Amino acid sequence: MSKTDLKSLNIKELEEFIRSLGEKSFRGRQIYAWLHRRLAGSFDDMTDISKGLKDKLKDCCSLTLLRKETMQESKEDGTRKYLFALEDGNMVESVRMRYQHGISVCISSQVGCRMGCRFCASTLGGLVRNLTPAEMLDQIYRIQADTGERVSHVVVMGTGEPLDNYENLVKFLGMLTDENGLHISQRNVTVSTCGIVPGIRRLAKEQLQITLALSLHAPNQKKRELLMPIAKKYELSQVLDACDDYFLQTRRRMTYEYALAGGVNDSKEDAKELGVLLQGRHCHVNLIPVNPIKEREYVQSKGDVIRNFQNLLEKYGINVTIRREMGRDIDGACGQLRKRYAER
Ligand code: SAH
Repeated sequence: MSKTDLKSLNIKELEEFIRSLGEKSFRGRQIYAWLHRRLAGSFDDMTDISKGLKDKLKDCCSLTLLRKETMQESKEDGTRKYLFALEDGNMVESVRMRYQHGISVCISSQVGCRMGCRFCASTLGGLVRNLTPAEMLDQIYRIQADTGERVSHVVVMGTGEPLDNYENLVKFLGMLTDENGLHISQRNVTVSTCGIVPGIRRLAKEQLQITLALSLHAPNQKKRELLMPIAKKYELSQVLDACDDYFLQTRRRMTYEYALAGGVNDSKEDAKELGVLLQGRHCHVNLIPVNPIKEREYVQSKGDVIRNFQNLLEKYGINVTIRREMGRDIDGACGQLRKRYAER
């Protein structure tokens, strides 16, 4: 019989499970607090749980615990990039950044990715598997335990397409924001998607207050198809309709991400076309200087090109920010730490 993944059970499920072992359900609450608030690393940490119950749990449950494989810290801004080993030996990357408003952790949602975006390092080896809710949570838990500082913001923008791992993602979001766990405010959580229309529509119905970010990266269908294979499956107008619906259902303003690559999608015409496309929508555009990866030919747009692009967009009444590049000295593009490690 396969073991129960204890850390992937939400509080209701855990109470139920503990009852099924013949124990009082408040024991479930205690264990939940150990796992999700006190960030216990083992059953033995749970000092107010009887040895008998701990032995039972050890027998029938697995306890997800990510192991820090390596960590790099930026000398420029203190950004930390963690490489974690999962139980089965796969690796995932997570990043911790310090901002004025708090500590933000960027997590992975899958091992690898099957979306195939042309500029992205995470997708080069394809999808290996989905992460469980516990494996998503534990990236945050291990980082908080490692640094001793409370994580206030979470972005699901690491390796993987979160809406391609929908059930686990939604369970993870519920547990992350549950008052019995880290209780991170839903408004401090962002999920980024390449534009899986049924997933966006479904997420809109979940009644969550999280921010949805769409990886747009092009001002029209033709250009988007060249950069993102998923665009062939979900047409730009359908994607934007789904995003409008997300705003209507949640009243959360959309974020559109736009990675600027020199000579690819950074011309004045591109900026104007994007302005027309997004004009009147409740949104915010985040311009990201593309992070070059060695397998592809993309280069960053020049600083003045980026600022001009921003100015042109703002003429359409659009709120635009340029993503500050964090941890440039440790970076390499997203997904490259894991990849370099695998190639050794
Ligand atoms: N699959 C999701 C989330 C993971 S990628 C998505 O597509 O949104 C997080 C963001 O980083 C996306 O906007 C993605 O397009 C962007 N990204 C990936 N590789 C990049 C690179 N080399 N330079 C800049 N941004 C990149």
